[in-house]
Amino acid sequence: MAFYVTTPIYYVNAAPHLGHAYTALGADVLARHMRQRGEDVFFLTGTDEHGEPVALAAEREGITPQALVDRNAPRFQALMPRLNVSNDFFVRTSDPEHKRRVQEVLGRIRENGHVYKGKYEGWYCPRCADFKTDAEQGPDHTCPIHLIELIREEEENYFFALSAFQDDLERLYAERPDFVLPRHRFNEARAFIAGGLQDVSLSRANLTWGVTVPWDPAHVFYVWFDALLNYYTALGYAREGDDLTDRFWPATYHLIGKDILKFHTVFWPAMLMAAGLPLPKHVFVHGFLLMRDASGDEHKMSKSLGNVLDPFQVIDEFGTDALRYYCLREVSFGHDGAVSTAGFAARYEGELANELGNLITRTLAMVVRYRDGDVPAAQPDPVLAAELDPLAVEVARLLDGAELSAALDTAWLGVRRLNRYVEERAPWVLAKDAALSEELDVVLASLVEGLRVMSVLLHPWLPETSGRVLGALGAPELDLTGARLQAGRVAHVERLSPPFPKADAVPARR
Ligand SMILES: [Zn+2]
Repeated sequence: MAFYVTTPIYYVNAAPHLGHAYTALGADVLARHMRQRGEDVFFLTGTDEHGEPVALAAEREGITPQALVDRNAPRFQALMPRLNVSNDFFVRTSDPEHKRRVQEVLGRIRENGHVYKGKYEGWYCPRCADFKTDAEQGPDHTCPIHLIELIREEEENYFFALSAFQDDLERLYAERPDFVLPRHRFNEARAFIAGGLQDVSLSRANLTWGVTVPWDPAHVFYVWFDALLNYYTALGYAREGDDLTDRFWPATYHLIGKDILKFHTVFWPAMLMAAGLPLPKHVFVHGFLLMRDASGDEHKMSKSLGNVLDPFQVIDEFGTDALRYYCLREVSFGHDGAVSTAGFAARYEGELANELGNLITRTLAMVVRYRDGDVPAAQPDPVLAAELDPLAVEVARLLDGAELSAALDTAWLGVRRLNRYVEERAPWVLAKDAALSEELDVVLASLVEGLRVMSVLLHPWLPETSGRVLGALGAPELDLTGARLQAGRVAHVERLSPPFPKADAVPARR
């Protein structure tokens, strides 16, 4: 089956920070897991390059907007391999093919009678590139996200007749309780719709940096409409000579942060309806990673607020897997949660080094020490198998609902079970008595198989570590059907250096 997952496209003016990495990591976990299930996967990310903030920033620097985005977009492109993120394409909204398709789809929406010309007056945040309704404003006409004063703007615009989709959107939410996940975000979106929809600006008249409105070239499309369409347009040109639209549209999961909920859960489905296109299956709304500052207050992770836990620094010192693991384990995906350097250190030492790292190194070391690295051909312990084998089904069930943290917690139960198994069976005691040799064979075979199964299960979160362990086992297969204890899957093992060395023992890797 086709599985199509997207991140929001990142606004190219910003420098990449942990907030950007977070959504990309979440989408990567889903993409990797679905590949393990043999699904036909497409994973899209990219950059949002139009709009007033880019034009203003370029003007300040005395360069063209295109030069500015050509300089900044590669920072986000480079972020993906550094996070070990396996996206299949990187869309840029200044791509000529994207622009052509935006004009085509929005032209169709106009032909279908959902566009008209009118005058707009409202409170505008240039950083959000969005007009704010009264309910969306902070005190004294400020932006609650950027904490800046809103600007009163009035202009002649083309409008998208969003209000005409009131009934259709209400019906969508009544019929598809999993259209928006998790549930509290579904309720938030539905409440916004129930509050009554107003028509929205589709174009800007005083801007030139954007996608030109084909029926009135004095206008460019409002950046949000252009940006949202990336999910659809990219499939048309991601593979030269091969239009992937029929194969992957509609998207299975749009992953987004809660700050852009309205656009993805209200505007976007209405636009698709207006264009006569199928709707995505799910929009999953994750929360924010919050950093505690010295005063104990929590803030959204953002460079502009000056409280960044730098993902590059974590990667340089501890590796990509440690960052991936920490972000998705510490904060339940779908909720806000606090991250901190102290929290990172505790998870790294307590779980990655002491639980998983220790399981890996001592299992391999015992097989080398007691059996010269040859894995006994014994059947794995059926009691252990009965506990570990169901984990794959449970992980798959949770990831079907994009419950990334709950799925990781479930997989981790297997790591802890295997460590308890080592303590219970004490192979170092069995090894002292030749009469217990067959028992030791079963224990070693069970541990090696358990380690293999855990490496397959944990691959989406810890792809580097998983690959190293499966390499040491000579069993690189990642398919999820293989994630159950079997006899004879691994013949011989090699030792590994500790995959999560203690921070003070190993200086920066690069
Ligand atoms: Zn704002």
